[in-house]
Amino acid sequence: MEPGTGAGLNTAVERYYDITLDLYEDLWGEHVHHGFWDPGEVPGVTGADRHAATDRLVRELVDFARVPAGSRVLDVGCGIGGPALHLAGAMGCTVEGVTLSARQAARANEKAQAAGVAGRARFHQLDALSTGFPDASFDVVWALESLMHLPDRPAFFAEAMRLLRPGGTLAVATWSVREGELDDAEQDLVRQILQHQVMPDFSSLEEHERQAAAAGFADVASVDWSSAVANSWDPSFAQIRRFEQGRTVMRQLARERGVDVLGFFHAGPLMKKGFDTGVVTYGAVRATRPEPGDAAAAALIRPVADLLRGIVGEDGAWLDSVVPGTRIDGDLLVESHELAAWSLALRDRYGDGVDLAAYVSGLEIDEIVELTVADVAGYVAAHRSDDAGGSRDSGPAPADGR
Ligand code: SAH
Repeated sequence: MEPGTGAGLNTAVERYYDITLDLYEDLWGEHVHHGFWDPGEVPGVTGADRHAATDRLVRELVDFARVPAGSRVLDVGCGIGGPALHLAGAMGCTVEGVTLSARQAARANEKAQAAGVAGRARFHQLDALSTGFPDASFDVVWALESLMHLPDRPAFFAEAMRLLRPGGTLAVATWSVREGELDDAEQDLVRQILQHQVMPDFSSLEEHERQAAAAGFADVASVDWSSAVANSWDPSFAQIRRFEQGRTVMRQLARERGVDVLGFFHAGPLMKKGFDTGVVTYGAVRATRPEPGDAAAAALIRPVADLLRGIVGEDGAWLDSVVPGTRIDGDLLVESHELAAWSLALRDRYGDGVDLAAYVSGLEIDEIVELTVADVAGYVAAHRSDDAGGSRDSGPAPADGR
């Protein structure tokens, strides 16, 4: 394979999932992704426990990304349809799933048939970056543990924008790496994981957020689930019948299917080390395709951020790093004198209709903590006086306001 190139990589990914389909099904059932556990929860070694944890991850992503019931969903990298069957079944969504593996697509269609949801869940062998679906044809683009295989993630975010209707939701969960420089040993570990799992490279969660924002998404947010999913690689827990039979079985599989199949067996110890040392991370990213009305807010993000910046004393570099999802107060503590100063400055610039202090006082504490630059800009866009804006540098709005 040529790991760096789209076509060579796609062929290798297709082959990898074709030849490991039954191995994953033995290990994880219909879900080809991590499980999710609460802090301190110790997984048992029973299949039921494992399956409860993988089901749980799907529900966690639904909740985090706020996927609405009944949505039209594109499932990017659908595997054998485990997550899609939950979306189409319990949640009444209509799902189009795409995978590079023809065997996975066929198996997923079989499972949809058996579950009685074939009318609402269809699976295709297609490349996520060229599905051919029309513009704005989905309410949700869902990618659960597939972005690691994509050679061009910025292109994925751009394509997700095209496919989502305005106001639609992007829901991603992905393997990732710690942000920042890695030392030689860490890079070597990452290189081995990538090679065995047929992945071109990893991005940090923060990088995913930046790529989503750069593609024009709003309300971009992420959550680090590394500690919730790391149990998935617990050696006793990850055991399956075939593993117990040891090296003979691995050799036989490699003879029958090719050596690439061994990547499946190597992942366990490498990923465990990755999570134990904090090099490998895991998380979810959510984002929204802005509504047309949000254009006014988008245009205000930078000037509003600039006003807020002066008051909390952030520097120019901070301003350059601002994306719509940037929290307005990095230390999560909106002090009352800051809020009062922001409110005055915004009113001064955008007219008396803008009263940030009153707006914030009507929010719940969680909402205040999560308040982003885009939220403030959206509020300003909706309440500014028509003639207020860039032309007036200072001074209170005229008494009549317009
Ligand atoms: N989301 C599924 C499967 C995850 S495994 C689940 O959670 O169960 C990764 C999946 O991504 C595989 O189905 C693989 O075929 C798919 N994939 C990887 N690169 C892809 C691409 N370029 N286009 C479509 N699917 C891709």
